[in-house]
Amino acid sequence: MPETVFPFPARGKPKEEVFRAMRQMRDGDVNWRQGRVFSLVFYAGEDVAQVIREAYTLFLSENALNPTAFPSLRRMEAEVVAMSAALLGGDAQACGAMTSGGTESILMAVKTAREWAARTRPEIHSPEMVLPLSAHPAFDKAAHYFGVKAVRTPLRPDFRADVDAMRAAINPNTILLVGSAPSYPQGVVDPIGEISELALESNLLCHVDACVGGFMLPFVRCLGYPIPDFDFRLPGVTSISADLHKYGYAAKGASVILYRTAELRRCQFFITTDWPGGIYASPAMAGTRPGGAIAAAWAVLNYLGEEGYLRLAREVMQATEKLKAGINAIRGIKILSDPEMSVMAIGSNGLNLYEVGDEMSLRGWQLDRQHFPPCLHLTINYAHVGIVDGFLRDLRASAAAVRRPSPHKIANGILLRLANALVRVLPQAWVSRLMKRSGALLGSGDGSGLPQRSAAMYGMIGSLPNRGDMHELMLDLLDSMTHVRPIEK
Ligand SMILES: *Cc1c(COP(=O)(O)O)cnc(C)c1O
Repeated sequence: MPETVFPFPARGKPKEEVFRAMRQMRDGDVNWRQGRVFSLVFYAGEDVAQVIREAYTLFLSENALNPTAFPSLRRMEAEVVAMSAALLGGDAQACGAMTSGGTESILMAVKTAREWAARTRPEIHSPEMVLPLSAHPAFDKAAHYFGVKAVRTPLRPDFRADVDAMRAAINPNTILLVGSAPSYPQGVVDPIGEISELALESNLLCHVDACVGGFMLPFVRCLGYPIPDFDFRLPGVTSISADLHKYGYAAKGASVILYRTAELRRCQFFITTDWPGGIYASPAMAGTRPGGAIAAAWAVLNYLGEEGYLRLAREVMQATEKLKAGINAIRGIKILSDPEMSVMAIGSNGLNLYEVGDEMSLRGWQLDRQHFPPCLHLTINYAHVGIVDGFLRDLRASAAAVRRPSPHKIANGILLRLANALVRVLPQAWVSRLMKRSGALLGSGDGSGLPQRSAAMYGMIGSLPNRGDMHELMLDLLDSMTHVRPIEK
């Protein structure tokens, strides 16, 4: 028998024991119910959570791979897609499909654009898409998977897409333009109207990534906030991605990809007729598709309706306004740009943001770190309606702590200077090994490879002369995170 890291269980365990182990593992997770984490969990209160839980379990075993066996799922998916298209300005021609999430929706949009170009512009052999720097990495993933070159263009000073730069990046190989509503990093809506015009003029497809905004912006606009047009109301927009498992408050594993016409959507489908197992047709990436995710999305849309979503959006926007004002009143930090909805970044107005992030971590808040420029990310959803005052109190204390000198900051400073000096003289492989060590050095006490204080690490990463080192470092980190820990007794 070869030696293995973790044995396959020889015997079954009692259910109680299995669940005790899982509950115990969960104790170490971030406290999302108390609104301590941003962007990973969208929570609309216990009643909604119960609706999606019950709907999911009702269709736990059903499989949307074959809709003829489950007309229930076929109908629910069709209705979810149609309701989403109606919300996003689609007419009777608009159509789409449900997918497992924003990434899959974006993968499908890019794949569709590639097929559409292959059919309508066969002279193109190296297709390209033009997208602002802020567009989600799922587009790079799509580029990587489907052989479409991603041409990134700069942003305006307000972090919105610079459409002149996009125009300049178009060449005879371009097949697709992309804009976000809003973009994830700073939460600002790109000038989709101009991108749509550019697409029409240049005879290109135009995808709007409304993954995070699709089920929020329409309601925010209804509440009277100024939201520019971003959806099928703009004639050049040919596809839209919108995540049900974000502001749709559905169960995880639910998004829609919408198209202006059925003709376009046909480019998304995959069909093979030669397999001995029969004719195989599949709308998107997955084969087997969980019925639960479709059922929970259908249930929550019907349970909340426009009225319910408006109520949630109103509270979220009130919390957002209060947070923005509170953050802007703290010396040394500020909200970047003027985000239209409830996604935003806290930028520096003199203070080191990564240190502020570390101080917030010590106070139990999990904030994502961003770079170019350094900032902290916030996605406010209904789970955060009750945390505004506590958050602002801790943020004020964190900013104050960063303004004071401390041994930790001095240590970070020394490490940074050391790293800066070393990366210039050490061979490549040494640098990536050193970077791996630096995680442990900076206080990754639990062996998860994730340091508790990350300010110094981010500082070091920012100072690396070679982005290739960064790539290696992240591969090492992904590797180390999938290791099984020694069995705990
Ligand atoms: C979340 C998000 C995505 C990706 O969605 P996943 O569900 O995480 O795959 C894409 N674009 C934007 C703007 C997002 O916020």
